[in-house]
Amino acid sequence: LDEEGIDPNAVLRSSVPLVQHGLSHADIDIALDLSASTNVAMNETELQQVIVNLLINAIQAMPDGGTIQIRSRDEQDDDTGRRHILIEVADEGVGIAPEEQDRIFDPFFSTKKGKGTGLGLSITRKIVTRAGGTITFESGTNGGTVFFLRLPAI
Ligand code: ADP
Ligand code: MG
Repeated sequence: LDEEGIDPNAVLRSSVPLVQHGLSHADIDIALDLSASTNVAMNETELQQVIVNLLINAIQAMPDGGTIQIRSRDEQDDDTGRRHILIEVADEGVGIAPEEQDRIFDPFFSTKKGKGTGLGLSITRKIVTRAGGTITFESGTNGGTVFFLRLPAI
């Protein structure tokens, strides 16, 4: 892995066109608010795959349209003092039912009735944890889900 790491904001920007065809089905906007200022120790293609997986899930959760927000910023771990980058992907979709929330990272778990492989989040979490990062989420009962990626800064 390159010692200089990769610019997370560049990867976030370049991931949006990759899901653009999915946006034509619904009235969906993607808004970027990128203030992370350091590189991350991660493979560029793998981070792009992670972001594309999260964006496709967000788009599929918003049949009636809405806005997806992609944010990045610098953070510091309170206990260790280590710096990392926080990336958030927030949608205005259907949300994740409470009884499904502890299963969404399981391989083959999908609520998409034959249209989903259920592998996206399982692969996503594998990539993120192998890079030394974490992935968590919050989903409200009234819909809307935010995924939080924390990736080690260089
Ligand atoms: P797939 O997309 O093939 O179903 P994933 O592993 O990507 O598989 O996601 C697993 C399940 O998690 C989805 O079927 C869906 O129920 C839920 N999920 C993931 N992301 C979202 C989201 N942004 N909003 C609502 N539900 C989601
Ligand atoms: Mg998926």
